[in-house]
Amino acid sequence: MTPQSCERCASTVFAESLQCPVCSAPVGFHPPTLSFRVLDGETVEIDGRTWAACSNRDWRCNWLAPRDEPSAQCFSCRLTRRRPPSDETADLERLADAAVDKRRLLMQLRYLGLPITPYYEREGGLAFDLLAGTPSEPVMIGHANGVITIDLNETLDDRREGVRVRLGEAYRTMLGHFRHEIGHYYQGILVDSDAAWAECRALFGDERASYQDAIDRHYRFGAPEGWADSFISEYATMHPWEDFAECFAHYLHITATLATAARGGVTLDAERVSGHSDASVVPLEDYSAQPIDRMLDDWHWLSLLFNRVNRTMGKDDLYPFRISAPVAEKLAYVHRIVTRVAGS
Ligand SMILES: [Zn+2]
Ligand SMILES: [Zn+2]
Repeated sequence: MTPQSCERCASTVFAESLQCPVCSAPVGFHPPTLSFRVLDGETVEIDGRTWAACSNRDWRCNWLAPRDEPSAQCFSCRLTRRRPPSDETADLERLADAAVDKRRLLMQLRYLGLPITPYYEREGGLAFDLLAGTPSEPVMIGHANGVITIDLNETLDDRREGVRVRLGEAYRTMLGHFRHEIGHYYQGILVDSDAAWAECRALFGDERASYQDAIDRHYRFGAPEGWADSFISEYATMHPWEDFAECFAHYLHITATLATAARGGVTLDAERVSGHSDASVVPLEDYSAQPIDRMLDDWHWLSLLFNRVNRTMGKDDLYPFRISAPVAEKLAYVHRIVTRVAGS
């Protein structure tokens, strides 16, 4: 049994599943072991501790919460510091949608071994303010002092897609927002010495440059010509903070998608991959012990395939980005600081 499978029938359970897609057993995600467990009524015994379904299960939360703690909410739900009022049903539905992506994010952070200290344990710890903006009170997506703010209106396809087209972005998803903002959070944690900051500045630029000037310039003049030779996205050109967060998000995109391919048993046969005859491409669930070149090489070939698959279905590319040599250097830096803390 792999962790992401049903205890009862061994079928694959998806990150969003409330029940096994095959045998319909009610399942809950157990964060400490990163595994799905079958609920026995309301609760399940795991390693001598009683776990219960999160109190937000009616809002599609499929995580488990320990019974011996005062909160009936799971770890993911407890990280939400501010949410819409309980009589705003439409906004709560959007909150439930966004929470799916938040749980996917948190699950991956645990897989990578990244530390998560909640705001209720430490000042500046991680928190989420998940709020629906209104014309008179807009909500700005962003990160400040451990708090990630998300505008729940971004769960609405027409709205999000409209913004994407207007800004000329190649990709815009709720999961992408979470992965970008968590990059801001981790930069303050993982870049933890003068030497690490010196290296960071050499790659991404000096983050002490005025942020307001950078925003004004970006929205007036756009990205500089030839930006794709050294940046992963136009947004990354705005300021060194954003370049780091964008690269961090891409590190999460790439490692998550490779892990999914690995778990699904995808391999590319050497003879079938044109231009790549020396070896088959076998993605890994975990690249922490691998050089970044191996990861990026696997990703190069797999993302080409995934893009072709999407086009076959009349969709846009799965990964509409080009990783230039300078961007690969930045991703290598992220790989170093992530695996260093995860291995400690
Ligand atoms: Zn099952
Ligand atoms: Zn929950």
